[in-house]
Amino acid sequence: MNTFAKNLDAVIAKIEKARIAYSRHHIIQLIAVSKYATACDIKALYECGQRAFGENKVQDLKAKAQTLDELPLQWHMIGTLQENKINALLALKPTLVHSLDSFELALAIQKRCENHNMSLNALLQINAANEPTKSGVKPEVAQETYLKIAKHCPNIKLEGLMTIGANSPETKKIEQSFQITKDIFDGLKPNGARILSMGMSGDFEIAISCGANMLRIGSALFQK
Ligand SMILES: *Cc1c(COP(=O)(O)O)cnc(C)c1O
Repeated sequence: MNTFAKNLDAVIAKIEKARIAYSRHHIIQLIAVSKYATACDIKALYECGQRAFGENKVQDLKAKAQTLDELPLQWHMIGTLQENKINALLALKPTLVHSLDSFELALAIQKRCENHNMSLNALLQINAANEPTKSGVKPEVAQETYLKIAKHCPNIKLEGLMTIGANSPETKKIEQSFQITKDIFDGLKPNGARILSMGMSGDFEIAISCGANMLRIGSALFQK
C-alpha cells in the first residue's frame, strides 16, 4: 500500500472509532486539506477514494482545480476570504465556503452573487475561543449574525458553522471551544443548519466527541 493509502486508512479508522463512540447514527464527511500538497499528491489521494479537498487561498484552489480539471473533485474554500477575491472564487464554483466570517463579507458576496446570478453554499465561521489571531464571529453574536445573513443575503445558502479548535495544549480548552460551537449549531438547526465543520489533524477526535460532522484534515493525510 502507498503512503497516502496508509494515511487515509489510519485516519478513517480513528474517525470511525470516535464516530461510533459518539453515535452509530452520526454521519461524518472528511475534507482533505491540500494546502501544503501538490496537484500530484491530490491525485494520489483521489486514487485512494478521497473526493473532497480544501484549500485556504483562492489562487491555490484555482491552480489545483484547473490542473485536476478532469477529476470529479469537490472543492472547499477554508481560508480567510478577501473581498477582492470573491469574483475569482465564485468563478470556481466551490462546493462550500467554510470561512464566511462577518456580515460585511456576506453582503459583499451577496452583491457579487447577484451580479453573476449565482448562489454560494457557506458556513459561518465562529471564533469560539475569542482568539485575536483568528477570524470568525464571536459566539455571543453568532446566532444573530447567522439569521441576519440568512435574511439579507438570499444568494448565500447558509449550511451551518465552522470553527478552528482553541490553540491550546489543554484538551479541556479545545473541547470547550468545540462545545460552544456545537451549542450555537444546535440552536440554529431549526433555521436549517446541518453542517458542523470542526476538527483538524491534531484535534479531530475531540471535535467528533463534540458532534462535528465535517472534518478538515491536512497533515495527517498528506504526510510522507
Ligand atoms: C490547514 C487547515 C486545516 C488542516 O490542518 P491540519 O493540522 O494540517 O490537519 C484545517 N482547517 C483550516 C482552516 C486550515 O487552515
